[in-house]
Amino acid sequence: MNDTAQHKFEAAGLGKAPFRVVGFEVKKFQACQGAPIQAGASCDFCATSIMNVYWVKGSGLNDNRFKVGCDCVEKTGDRGLIRRAKNASSEHKAAASRAAKESRVKRLYTLLTMDAVVEALEGDPHPMSWRADEGDTRVDWATWMLRHSGMAGKTKLASYVEKVANGLGIKPRKVDEGDEDSALARLDPRDPAPKAETPVLLSDPEPGFETEPTFEPAESEWIGTVGNRVSFSATVEATIECEGFRPYQSTMLYKFVDDDGNQAAWFNSGRAPRRPDGELIEEGDRVMVIGRVKDHTFYRGARQTTLTRCKVELM
Ligand SMILES: [Zn+2]
Repeated sequence: MNDTAQHKFEAAGLGKAPFRVVGFEVKKFQACQGAPIQAGASCDFCATSIMNVYWVKGSGLNDNRFKVGCDCVEKTGDRGLIRRAKNASSEHKAAASRAAKESRVKRLYTLLTMDAVVEALEGDPHPMSWRADEGDTRVDWATWMLRHSGMAGKTKLASYVEKVANGLGIKPRKVDEGDEDSALARLDPRDPAPKAETPVLLSDPEPGFETEPTFEPAESEWIGTVGNRVSFSATVEATIECEGFRPYQSTMLYKFVDDDGNQAAWFNSGRAPRRPDGELIEEGDRVMVIGRVKDHTFYRGARQTTLTRCKVELM
């Protein structure tokens, strides 16, 4: 600011120099939904309508704060005031962008509590090919991202999950405070507590399953550990088509009984396993099953191991 010239805001009667920035806000005006968004305030110095409002106050005892746009702040040539105005607006923008990201991550958790979304992610291979070869899915990826990544990683995950949800025609429901915990529990049942010896009810039974609590262990035992890979020889007990399980592709339920009489089930939405001659693997076939244990559940009173990402080969 030129020392000899009077401060422009002082000359305009807005107060006594020196001036300081006491606030910043974005004022928008929209006549109705769908109408263009307009500036929602007017500059006390030039009367132009402004959206980015800088609140400024002089140092006089009776000075009141007044609002100006960035152009008028610039016009004063008051370097200190200009710098503080820039800081105020960038702090405001950073806070707004932080808030937007936080609410996007909250919506992400909400989407991840929804069965159809998680099932779709389960059907997509892990983005890293070696993890995909191990049978890991987008659910494993999402779980890792939620636990280990910062805001940037979570935003990336949010954009992936939003696309999946859009593809399924799913609108996120209202965000609930408990969604974060439910989503994490839903995605990663192997963490934190290991499965208890006492039977645990599945909270959300999959279609085609009946979940019944039982405290009399049936002959079937659970196979492997939840979260781990298993391989065993078995007989295909049944192949059942589950219609409408996922809206855009058919899902086949494969039921296996291993050599010790233990039951396992696998919902396959991917390519159907085939015999070397190209025919589909069917009921009664003796097969080698390699897959990941998704859960230990009950079906009609018997222990049943739910598998995911299976390779099934004729023996
Ligand atoms: Zn102005």
